[in-house]
Amino acid sequence: MKTLFKSFKLQSLLVLAGLLLAGPVAHAQKEFKSSVPWPEPKAIDPGDATRAPSDAIVLFDGKDLSAWKNGDKWIIQNGIATAAKSGISTKQSFGDCQLHLEWASPEKVEGNGQGRGNSGVYLMGRYEVQILDSFNNKTYFDGQAASLYKQYPPLVNASRKPGEWQSYDIIFTAPRFDKEGKLLKAGFVTVLHNGVLVQNHAELQGGTYFDKPPEYKAHADKAPMDIQFHGNSVRFRNIWIREFKELLTPEQAKVSNYLKKVD
Ligand code: MG
Repeated sequence: MKTLFKSFKLQSLLVLAGLLLAGPVAHAQKEFKSSVPWPEPKAIDPGDATRAPSDAIVLFDGKDLSAWKNGDKWIIQNGIATAAKSGISTKQSFGDCQLHLEWASPEKVEGNGQGRGNSGVYLMGRYEVQILDSFNNKTYFDGQAASLYKQYPPLVNASRKPGEWQSYDIIFTAPRFDKEGKLLKAGFVTVLHNGVLVQNHAELQGGTYFDKPPEYKAHADKAPMDIQFHGNSVRFRNIWIREFKELLTPEQAKVSNYLKKVD
């Protein structure tokens, strides 16, 4: 009995020692690997506050507005473009994209409501992210700065004072239509205003109009982007855009190519 007890004790000690020694191994988990054959994400230079990412299309770098129709109507001075005479429209067409732009409403406050520092980014020429001096300037909430015009107010008012530079970072997923022009999937817009989230994957209800409710009208997969001239000398700098595509596995790419062919 005594020997049995002794050997039991010894065994327990050995087991305990073993557990202590093998502790980390005993707790190690088997790694899960998805085995989805993702393509390797392309390496890019992300740039910094003054430099666009390496895969961006620079639409205004302070020199000229040659990437825009009617760009010659705006005033360019000291690396800044000031809205004048008419809206401008990109020569290139875009669909899904990430857009960065910096803007400033006039330092000298004139007018009120929609008449103060009004401009706007028209994604695909149809979906307006409002630009407005909304610092101590009340207007209808779904028409203030960073609203999706007459659809959604911004989640917060992140406006800086008149004359100060502000940024928009917009992530846009274009709506999809079928061959007959029927809406397959709505468009979505996310907006960071001065780095603050103000539109979170908001579902567009259609085009943004001044005089009628939102409505979708079928359009191409890509279309030019406009910046509005609304009679106010809104200034712009550092405008760039990145088109993006979802990563597809070889199998998903095959299906997608097939659908494009039969569509
Ligand atoms: Mg506007």
